[in-house]
Amino acid sequence: MNFSRKELVQTEATMNQVRNAVFHLARLMEKNGIENSKERLRKMGQNIAKTYINYWKPTDVITLANLKDVITTIYQKVLHSAVSIEINEIEKVIKVRDYSCALCKYHYEDVKIAGCEILLGLVSELITLISKESQGSTQLLLKPYEVIESRSYGNKSCIQVFKYKMKKEE
Ligand SMILES: [Zn+2]
Repeated sequence: MNFSRKELVQTEATMNQVRNAVFHLARLMEKNGIENSKERLRKMGQNIAKTYINYWKPTDVITLANLKDVITTIYQKVLHSAVSIEINEIEKVIKVRDYSCALCKYHYEDVKIAGCEILLGLVSELITLISKESQGSTQLLLKPYEVIESRSYGNKSCIQVFKYKMKKEE
């Protein structure tokens, strides 16, 4: 995949934004309870997605058939990460495993929250926004669920879990 100069600049800017957000993490931990910190990090991710979509989106239409490709592309392009993805169509759950999660690179002694809570917000918002903008008759809405493993907890990889639902247009 080739990047235009403008896209490269935007990708860099986004990565910096995301990394900066990680540094807020430590501070958030001191001030707030964990539930509140999760909310804040996911919100940050959602806000980044709202900006990002003005510059780049991986596709115009998202369906269950291309969902894996779309998520893979987002991780590649925004985070320079190679991930493996499992979709459970019965539970409507998506599991993304990332062995080199950029957001959990730093290990804080007192960390009880994963940096990639931001990604839960970012990825789900990006996909939901694209889906809402597309002309398709069925929307695919993604929501953050949980980070079940994280390098910042001492696990080998990060596992980010999303829930999705299909919504038919009336
Ligand atoms: Zn992570």
